This record gives sequence, structure tokens and C-alpha cells, in this order.
Amino acid sequence: MPHSAPCPLTQLARQAKAAIYSLLLINPVLLAQPLLASETLPSTVCEQFPTIAVDTGKRSEDKDWQGTQQLSPTVSILVLAGHADLQTSGTNGQAVADGADPMQPGMTDEAFWNLATAQRIARLGRQRGLNIFFYDPFFYDPVVRHIPDNDAPRTNWSTGKRHVEAGGYALEIHYNAYSPDGTGSGIIPRVHEGQTVIDEYLASEFGAFPLDFRRGNLGAPRRGITILEVGNLEGDLEEKLRDTATRDRALNAIADRIVTAIEKTPIAKAIGACSTPLPTR
Ligand SMILES: [Zn+2]
Repeated sequence: MPHSAPCPLTQLARQAKAAIYSLLLINPVLLAQPLLASETLPSTVCEQFPTIAVDTGKRSEDKDWQGTQQLSPTVSILVLAGHADLQTSGTNGQAVADGADPMQPGMTDEAFWNLATAQRIARLGRQRGLNIFFYDPFFYDPVVRHIPDNDAPRTNWSTGKRHVEAGGYALEIHYNAYSPDGTGSGIIPRVHEGQTVIDEYLASEFGAFPLDFRRGNLGAPRRGITILEVGNLEGDLEEKLRDTATRDRALNAIADRIVTAIEKTPIAKAIGACSTPLPTR
């Protein structure tokens, strides 16, 4: 109906709109804040991550590199579980060497703990507002884990390489062999694309291996993926992971150290992120 007089309801709506705009002009912050808060606060209650003291054992202190490369504050962080596609199998750990049953048939205990740890890091990191996620090449079939070709598109290494070349950061989680072969905890930094500030903070938390570790021939660092060796799979670390009474808190404790190290870098966090985990108990 062209040229007709506006109906009273339309007029009322216009008046209300004008009133809101004038209030916003007077004090936009007061009005805008509750609107923003209701949109950005997480819809669920924050999950708690209680921790327990875990001794990750000796550290490698062979750092001969500096992680100076800055990353975007909104960098996407990809967490991978070492040996999840069984290019190499990883360590069985001290417990299995001493006669215990493996955690899961068909994979080494290291692969099992790498998966559990990588998942926990991503879960805790996302709760704390980081742009972080976990990739499992076998999420659809977690039992049969073997991709014969290292460079097949869905391997950890290919996925990590693509992620890094697109400007992301990729971290592959490992546990080291038990003594006397295991060389302790530490960062084996990415070679391709250069060492970053995240590598630097992780190294100050866990120790570091030299840049040419195994002559720079490891699959991940050559493709731009940093490796974290959490510790030798033995002693207090392995006992607290294996004991069902402490497992959950032990995984939280390890994930907390990694996420906290990443948080020391200049990194953006989602609005409404949850606070740090509960204190160690
Ligand atoms: Zn490994």
C-alpha cells in the first residue's frame, strides 16, 4: 500500500529504535556490554582439570638453537599424536618391558599415551581460549593404524606440513624410550620454516634437543612440525599414567604444562575462555 500513513505499531518501533540509538550515544558501553557478554560466554559450565604432581624425569639440555620467529597471535595450533599412523611404532615403555599387558593391543604404549595426551592438550587448550585442535589420521578406525606411505595425504606428517605451510603451528607429541636408551624430555624443533617463540617456551619447560638431532632427518621436523618428548616412558610418569586412580589428573598435569607454555607467547584468546585448572592435589 504505497503512500499510506504508517501504522501505529511501525511508528512505535521507530520511536523505540530512536530511543535505543540515543541511549547508545550517551553511553554505548553500558548497553553494549550485556549484549556482548550474553553472546560470547560459553554455554556450558567450564570443565575442571584437576592435576597431580608428575615427575617427567630427566631433561635433555642440548639446546643450540633460538626460537625467535613470531607467529600470528591468532595462529592455528595443530596437535598430533606421534606414531598414530604407525610410520614407526614408538616405545613399549618400561612397564611392558617388565611384563605388564600393553595398554591397547595393536599399538605401543607410547602411541596410546601420545593419543591420550594430544587429545587432552587440545581439550584443555580450547577451554582456555586457544585456537588449537587435534588431528587423528584414524579417527574413523582407531584400531587398524597403518598408512604405508609417509607422504600419503592423511598422514600426520602430510597434514602437519600442509598446516605449517598455510601459516599454522604443528606440534607432535611423543614419549621417549625407557632407560638406558631414553634421552629424557625436550623439544626437537622444526627445521623447515625456522624455530618459533612457541618452540622456545616449550623448550624452557621441557628441555631441548639440538637442531641436527639424528642429523635433522626425523620425519616431523623436516616437514615443519615440532616434536615434544614429554619424558621417558618409565618411573613416576608411567606409573601415574597407568594407575587408573591418577591417570586423568596426570594427563591434565602434562597438558597444563604444555598449554601454559604456549600461553606465554603473544597469543590471542577467545572471549569467555575458562580459567586455569585447579591446583595440584
Ligand atoms: Zn615416539
